[in-house]
Amino acid sequence: MSATILDGRAIALKVRAEVAQRAQALRARGIVPGLVVILAGDDPASAVYVRSKGRAAEACGIAARTVRFGADVSFATLQATVAELNADPAVHGILIQLPLPPGVSAEQTTALLEQVDPAKDVDGFHPQSLGHLVAGEPTFVACTPSGCMRLLAEAGVDPQGKRAVVIGRSTIVGKPMALLLLQAHATVTVCHSRTQDLPAVVRDADIVIAAVGRARLVKGDWIKPGAAVIDVGINRDGEGKLCGDVDFESVALVAGVLTPVPRGVGPMTIAYLMHNVCLAAARAAG
Ligand code: NAP
Repeated sequence: MSATILDGRAIALKVRAEVAQRAQALRARGIVPGLVVILAGDDPASAVYVRSKGRAAEACGIAARTVRFGADVSFATLQATVAELNADPAVHGILIQLPLPPGVSAEQTTALLEQVDPAKDVDGFHPQSLGHLVAGEPTFVACTPSGCMRLLAEAGVDPQGKRAVVIGRSTIVGKPMALLLLQAHATVTVCHSRTQDLPAVVRDADIVIAAVGRARLVKGDWIKPGAAVIDVGINRDGEGKLCGDVDFESVALVAGVLTPVPRGVGPMTIAYLMHNVCLAAARAAG
């Protein structure tokens, strides 16, 4: 078998066109969807992501701006910024670009994410948003898992009744991904670093979501023939080349559907951020 390779960039453009239509409808009512990104420090990858988000926002008709701080920014300054943005009615979505500089502790990062008004939580990282997802009544869903669900839908893969394996249990990808698959009536297994015999667990799956952060971990002989494989990972291999968590060459020979890295999940994440900003703006407008 040779897998159908999904073009995440093309599908993301489709999502962005849908968002642009919604933004236009909001603008016609005098509402300009607004996104503010808080960027602290000089992480080059973060700067690239923030630029991509700004470009996507502009293309969709969303007013986006970035509030920048140096690596020495204090927790108090970040708290004051979030408070100000929470109170600003022109701001519908607030995104704190992670990671924050080393001077901001993990606890402080959590506190900042929790300080964001849940009505402006376009990243879907607030515990309230996660709680709604657990309850099966999502408000804002994290953008990467939303993008993965859309990729499956575009590939004609209905999770209902299927066995799905999610590798990774982070709060931003693995856990919400598992909940969305569960909501779509899949039978879901979540794997992590302590999972015993990961290849055997993955071999059972009709749908595999790899969100690990280990270059080319998932091999072709782990995959059930015809399975749908979504590769969330963004890694550099030993030669500095960008690659996913899936060994693309060997998995493409066995899977039915496969996403590449780059041009797979990445563009979908940004498209669903734009989707969430329009959703927030529409809700704010009642
Ligand atoms: P994370 O917070 O580091 O979580 C990684 C998860 O993988 C953890 O649950 C960990 O298990 C598990 N894991 C690590 N090594 C493993 C192994 N050998 N076998 C099985 N499980 C293992 O990472 P994340 O934020 O979820 O991101 C995962 C990947 O997705 C990264 O490459 C990241 O760059 C990428 N990403 C991409 C996008 C996008 O838009 N394309 C968005 C977000 C993230 P424990 O819980 O036991 O430690």
